[in-house]
Amino acid sequence: MTKTALITGITGQDGYYLSRSLLEKGYRVVGLLLPQRQTNLAKLGSLADRVEIYAVDLTDCGALEDAVAQLQPQEIYNLAAPSFVPDSWNDPLGTLDLVTGTATRLLAAVRKAGLATRFYQASSSEMFGDVDRSPQDEQTPFRPMNPYAAAKLHAHWTMVHHRQHYGLFACSGILYNHESPRRPPQFVTRKVCLAAAAIKLGLSDTIEMGNLDAKRDWGYAGDYVEAMWRMLQVDVPEEYVIGTGELHSVRELVATAFECVGLDWNRYVAVQPKLFRQDEHFQLVANPAKAKNNLKWEPEVSFEALIEKMVLKDLERLKNGKISPATFSK
Ligand code: NDP
Repeated sequence: MTKTALITGITGQDGYYLSRSLLEKGYRVVGLLLPQRQTNLAKLGSLADRVEIYAVDLTDCGALEDAVAQLQPQEIYNLAAPSFVPDSWNDPLGTLDLVTGTATRLLAAVRKAGLATRFYQASSSEMFGDVDRSPQDEQTPFRPMNPYAAAKLHAHWTMVHHRQHYGLFACSGILYNHESPRRPPQFVTRKVCLAAAAIKLGLSDTIEMGNLDAKRDWGYAGDYVEAMWRMLQVDVPEEYVIGTGELHSVRELVATAFECVGLDWNRYVAVQPKLFRQDEHFQLVANPAKAKNNLKWEPEVSFEALIEKMVLKDLERLKNGKISPATFSK
C-alpha cells in the first residue's frame, strides 16, 4: 500500500529534502499550504510537479481537521515555522500561534479522526537555550532564550502530552543547525558561501561579519530529514537529539568557504561589532548517541563537504544569473 505523508512547511529547506526522500521511498507526498503562499512552490523546483498540494490555512482548526480526515495520512511532518530566530522578537505572538498552534491543531485533528497517524514535530536545539553543560542530550533541561525557542518548546510539550495522555504516536527531533544550498541568505552559512562565490566572480569585494569565534554544530539538511523519517519507523515514539556532535567556529566556516574558491579570507572579511549577537556565551552542541543507537542514524556529509556543496551551488547560480546582486553586499 502506498503511504501518504503530510508535510507543513513543504516549501522550506527541510520540506524540499524530506519530500525528495519520501518520493524516492515511494510515498504519496502532500503539502499543506495556504493558497496565498502557493507561489513559493517554485522553491521545490522539479519536485513541485511530483507532490500534491492541499490548500489550507494552518491557523484554521476545522480546515486542518477536514484535511487530516480526508487524506488519512500514515505520517505527518510538522515543519512550518518562521525559522529565522531573530525575527521572532518582532512577532512573538505570530510565532507562538504558527509554531505551537499548528502542532496543537494537527495533533487534535489526528485524535479526532481516530487515525493511527505517526506525527513528527520539528523541535529545535534553541529550546536548550542558556545551557550550562555541553554536549546536550535528551535529558538536558530546557532554558529557551527567545520567542522562537519558547514557542518550539510549547509545541514540543504539547506533542509529549498528546502521546502520554491520548496514546498518539508522536515524536520530535531536537535538531541542531542544518544547512544546504537551499538555506536562505540571512543564515550565516549561506551568507558566507554566497559572498565567497560573489567575490570570486568579481561581483563583490567584502563581507561584514559578527563574532568569528562563535561556534555552532552544523550539519547537512539532507542527512537530518533521514533522521526525521527513521523516528517514525521505530516501534516506540520518542524524542531524539540530532546533530553532528562537532563544533566549528564562524572563522572556520569563512576560511573553508574562501578556500573552496582559492581565496585568502583575511583580505575580504570586515568584522563589525554591531553584528555580534547577545547570546553568544553558550555553546550548543549535540550528543546524538541515542539516535545513533536506536535509529542507526549518523550524519554522512562532513562540515567541509557541506560548505563546498553550498559554495559550488552559489557559483553556479551566480554564473547563470539566478541570484540578484541585491542579495549580497558589494
Ligand atoms: P525554512 O525557513 O526553510 O522553511 C520554513 C517553512 O515554514 C517554509 O515552508 C515556510 O513557507 C513555512 N512558513 C513560515 N511561516 C509560515 C506561516 N506564517 N504560515 C505557513 N507557513 C509558514 O525552515 P527549515 O526547512 O530550515 O526548517 C524546518 C523546520 O525545522 C522549522 O520548523 C524550523 O524551525 C525547524 N528547525 C530548523 C533547523 C535548521 O537549522 N534548519 C534547526 C532546528 C529546527 P514559505 O516558503 O511560504 O515561506
